Amino acid sequence: MTYDPDNIFAKILRNEIPSIRVYEDADSVAFMDIMPRADGHVLVIPKTPCRNMLDATTEQMAAVMKTVQLMSRALMVAFGADGITLQQFNEEAGGQEVYHLHFHVLARHDGDHLGAPGKMGDQAKIQQNANKIRAALTAL
Ligand code: 5GP
Repeated sequence: MTYDPDNIFAKILRNEIPSIRVYEDADSVAFMDIMPRADGHVLVIPKTPCRNMLDATTEQMAAVMKTVQLMSRALMVAFGADGITLQQFNEEAGGQEVYHLHFHVLARHDGDHLGAPGKMGDQAKIQQNANKIRAALTAL
């Protein structure tokens, strides 16, 4: 299994295709999922290449998890959430569709259900939700 440098998230990292970024540090980026399954649905990726958790270095995992925790706290504030769900898929059999390591961070409310996967979100709504996350981050 080799890393494809032309996968969608690699193109997002190189700014070859647009994304709505909400956070970035030296080693990781967080951006809005284009097909959100909740208002707060963020993807966290390392800046360096790896397919998934199976070939990631401990440094890549540490960098991503640091940002996953930060985003989880921001989503709790931004959406008045009651909890957070993480999703992470490895290889086709594991449900992975984009082959650059990523964690889904999802804001949850008591009794809610995740939306269906694969449904394009409303761009204006996603922008609004991104603004809420950015505001929450400044207040943390
Ligand atoms: P997974 O590999 O975790 O099964 O799914 C990939 C995720 O990436 C999906 O939740 C999908 O909505 C999201 N996604 C796919 N293409 C794009 C894109 O071009 N931009 C953004 N922001 N998200 C994407």
